[in-house]
Amino acid sequence: MGEDARRLIPAVGSLLADPGVKEAARGYPQLLVSRVLGELAARLRGELELGERVADPAAWIRDRLPAALRRARYPLRRVYNATGVVLHTNLGRAPLAPAALEAVAAAAAGYCNLEFDLEAGERGSRYVHAVELLRLLTGAEDALVVNNNAAAVLLCLAALARDREVVVSRGELVEIGGGFRIPDVMAQSGARLVEVGTTNRTRVADYERAIGPETALLLKVHRSNFRMEGFVSEVSWPELVELGRSRGIPVMFDLGSGCLFDLAGAGVGEEPVVPRVVAQGGDLVTFSGDKLLGGPQAGIIVGRAGVVDRLRRHPLLRALRVDKMTLAALSATLILYLEPDPAAHIPVLASLTADPGRLRGRAERLRRLIRRRLLPGAPGELGVVPARSTPGGGSLPGVELPGYAVAVRSPRGASRLAAALRGAAVPVLGRVQGEQVLLDVRTLADAELPGVADQVASVLNAEAPRGG
Ligand SMILES: *Cc1c(COP(=O)(O)O)cnc(C)c1O
Repeated sequence: MGEDARRLIPAVGSLLADPGVKEAARGYPQLLVSRVLGELAARLRGELELGERVADPAAWIRDRLPAALRRARYPLRRVYNATGVVLHTNLGRAPLAPAALEAVAAAAAGYCNLEFDLEAGERGSRYVHAVELLRLLTGAEDALVVNNNAAAVLLCLAALARDREVVVSRGELVEIGGGFRIPDVMAQSGARLVEVGTTNRTRVADYERAIGPETALLLKVHRSNFRMEGFVSEVSWPELVELGRSRGIPVMFDLGSGCLFDLAGAGVGEEPVVPRVVAQGGDLVTFSGDKLLGGPQAGIIVGRAGVVDRLRRHPLLRALRVDKMTLAALSATLILYLEPDPAAHIPVLASLTADPGRLRGRAERLRRLIRRRLLPGAPGELGVVPARSTPGGGSLPGVELPGYAVAVRSPRGASRLAAALRGAAVPVLGRVQGEQVLLDVRTLADAELPGVADQVASVLNAEAPRGG
């Protein structure tokens, strides 16, 4: 690249005076705009050095400015989840109930009794807050809340089995996703893994043979995200509990999702509910707050009082502790389980149990709302089609939920349409299926439909012939 080309790059000062830049920069702090313009100018210089031809450098920068400003100012952005995946780990898993949001706002906007005992008027503990509710809802003697379930497992293993052995079935050495692998967590906790059985079959006798003087814990791990079929057998939780009891060895269940609502009774999957697992015995059960429970990210440990107390005194707990916003949201969510119909209040349960007839009505409403916003000549076809959605988030593997979606077709093809929807002011994430993008309404709240329609229509309208 010659000096001449480089001289074409406008100075930040002159860019700031450009009317197009001013328009895009409205509402953003001036210093942010100058920094972002400086970065874009540096990127342009790099392109030119690579021999890229750029006819209008100022326009090159102006075109990229709105997206660059949004990325800088709102790194964590609201999106519409029209994928139909209810617990989408990449989209933040469980949306919170309105009551949970209010509780977060109330706890976070001012001071709260996070570690203050109001009755005694002295220092208290943050770990008392959700304990009563968790005890009532699960039937466990005691409970402890940490940052997420991975942290819960780590803490339990470190406190109970450091430098000693933990026996796990080879069929349960799972990877949950995001690189969370049970053997790795175990290594981090300082516990030694003793694998028993084979991938497809493990018997009580396999555990019995592995038990020795170094055995500190028998661990069962829920197969949250896959299913095994065919020539398989596993040791049930009650069987493992009985074995541990007869040998005097603690038993723990990493339950993954932690279902507190009878989804199976509502016809969705076969997930065991936590109180049932607790009633079958054992020492510790751990699960997530933001999977089927439908609350904030958290790791919940319930179990025998003496064992939970050991965890509470472990130094690692300080590094895994929950914050006040999580505790507020979790308690407010747990309270909703004491309502006559929790699924009417907890968004995750509402999505999972929504009946197809209702979803069809929602899809038809979304189609109408989009159509009403289309300009004459806007390309695209809109239909309402049956769709199958999945629970996601490492829960209910193999379960498919019948529902409905709005199918959108555009002349430029499904993958480019999906990309344009992702690029909308509020991104809309759908599912590409063949030539169309499906907007699955199971994961859209009724109140979101007008907003979704605005975004979809603006994408389709941008393709309308000018002046048409
Ligand atoms: C999801 C899951 C975890 C991890 O839980 P997070 O709350 O995401 O940390 C651990 N174990 C099992 C069995 C899981 O399903």
